[in-house]
Amino acid sequence: MSKLPHVLMIHTGGTLMMRPGDDDRILQPDVYARDLLAELPVLRSIASIDTRILFNLDSGDMQPSHWVEIAQCIHESLDEYDGIVVITGTDTMAFTASALAFLLPGLDRPVVLTGAQRPLFDFRTDARSNLIDAFHIATLPVAEVGIAFGHKFLRGCRSTKTDAWGLDAFDSPLCQPLVTLGLGVKIGSHVLAARAAGAFDDRIDPRVLCLRVFPGLDPSLIDDALKAGVHGFVLEAFGVGNVPVAHGSLIPSLARASEQDVPVVIVSQCPRGGVDLGRYAGSAAALQAGAISGGDMTVEAAITKLMILLGRAPDTRRRAFILNGFRRALLGEMSVDFPYT
Ligand code: ASP
Repeated sequence: MSKLPHVLMIHTGGTLMMRPGDDDRILQPDVYARDLLAELPVLRSIASIDTRILFNLDSGDMQPSHWVEIAQCIHESLDEYDGIVVITGTDTMAFTASALAFLLPGLDRPVVLTGAQRPLFDFRTDARSNLIDAFHIATLPVAEVGIAFGHKFLRGCRSTKTDAWGLDAFDSPLCQPLVTLGLGVKIGSHVLAARAAGAFDDRIDPRVLCLRVFPGLDPSLIDDALKAGVHGFVLEAFGVGNVPVAHGSLIPSLARASEQDVPVVIVSQCPRGGVDLGRYAGSAAALQAGAISGGDMTVEAAITKLMILLGRAPDTRRRAFILNGFRRALLGEMSVDFPYT
C-alpha cells in the first residue's frame, strides 16, 4: 500500500466548526470535542493527518499576534509535513492568508487556508467540499500560502472576501487561481517556485491605520491619527489613486505624515486595476507629498505587508524602508508591470 502524504491541520476557529448556542441562534465557536476526522472520514483517504488546535475564535477576533502564532507553528512543523491546512473564519481569512504569506516567505510546500460559510453540522454545508479540496491541495507541489474555497486555490496575498452570502466567497481579481479543481486538477504556470525557508522573523507593528477616502473626509482626522502615534497609513483612494486636492485637500496632512517619517501607502478602492500615482493632479500631489504606491495590491495585502515591514524598519528611516519594500513584489502580491505607462 502506498504511503499517504502527511498533513498538519491547524485549527483556529471560524464557522466551519461553529454551532448555534443552546438558547439562541447565534453561531458560536463549538467545543472542538467533535472530531473533524470522525465527521468527515474521507479525509483519511487523502492524507495522514495530525491536528493542532491553536485557538478557537471567530476570525473577527483575530489579532496580528495570532497570525504570528500560526506562522510560527507552521515554520516549526514544515519539515515534518508535506503540507499544512489552516482552518479559520472567512471574515478575516484574506488578512490571515496575506500575513502568513509575508511571515513565511521561504516555502517549499503548500499552506492551505480554508473555512466555510455554513457550519459542518449543517446539511447544506460547504465545509465538506472545501475541506476535501484543501487537503487534496495540501498534497500537491504548490509552494504558496493560499485560500481553498469554491473549488479554487487562490494566492493568499491577492485574495479578498467578495461574498458575504454566496458559498463561492473568495476571489483574487487580479491573479488567476493557483489551482482549479474541476473534472481534473489544473495547477497554474504562475505558481511560485519553491523557496528555502530562512529563520523565522516574528516582528510586526500593528500601529497602522487604513482609511477609505470619500468626499467630505476631514483631513484633520489624519493629523489626529498622527498625533495619536500611528506608524503607517493605508489610504484606499479613488480610481487610479486620486485624493481630494482642492476642497478638503488631504495633501498638507499627507506631507506632514511624510515629514514625521510615517509612510502613507495608496491602494485603489476598485477591485480591478491599481494605482498610477501621477496620472491625475490628485495622485501627482499625493506622490509629491511622499505617498507610496501600493500598485494593484489588495487592501488586505497592503495592510499586512505594511505591518510586517514596519516591524522590521529602522526607527529613523521608516518611510524610506517601506518605500523600498513596496517597490517590489515579494511574493507575487502585485503585478510587476505597475505603474501603467
Ligand atoms: N464570523 C465567522 C468568522 O470569520 C464567519 C465565517 O467563518 O464564515 O469566524
